[in-house]
Amino acid sequence: FPPCTPYGVQLLLDTTGTDVAGQNVVVVGASNIVGKPMALMLLQREATVTLCHAKTRDLAQHTILADILIVAAGKPGLIVPQMVKQGAIVIDVGINRLPDGKIVGDVDFEGVKEKASWITPVPGGVGPMTVTMLIENTLRSAERALRMRQTDDYQDWEAPVLKGA
Ligand code: NAD
Repeated sequence: FPPCTPYGVQLLLDTTGTDVAGQNVVVVGASNIVGKPMALMLLQREATVTLCHAKTRDLAQHTILADILIVAAGKPGLIVPQMVKQGAIVIDVGINRLPDGKIVGDVDFEGVKEKASWITPVPGGVGPMTVTMLIENTLRSAERALRMRQTDDYQDWEAPVLKGA
């Protein structure tokens, strides 16, 4: 099953109508659950992928080149407008609780939205997509299990993927 958070990001990108092939994609954050699978999924779709992390020197030098910028570092305010290319698609995966209780992402949403062609809010962006893709994966799993009980040649069978979830 595709990992839920990157899977949801992929669907968000698809809904913009953007073909990621050949695009400069910069992923900030290289965790096993978000950054690494995200980078691999987009590489699979023939994007030119740069994967940044806490040891990356001069982060802005990379982010400014991104046609698509995906941020999953867990650092509020990490991405400011000067680090973003005009017209970029910006996907904010980060979820951070500030001392006053407010939930924010890793991107300065108010500033960066002036430069981005598309941008996801936090809360209400990638988080609900993760939940949605978890439900889709669960449904596919149940369908596959049902099919396995009904047929011997289940190895050749592919469960239908829900579109537009
Ligand atoms: P993690 O702590 O496992 O990994 C963080 C990554 O960011 C690491 O690779 C680290 O090197 C990198 N990083 C940290 N500081 C950096 C910096 N200053 N510059 C560049 N890279 C830096 O975190 P995770 O589990 O991948 O989660 C990341 C964020 O995404 C968190 O805020 C988490 O809550 C959020 N998250 C959201 C969803 C969702 O559904 N929206 C799902 C998973 C995680």
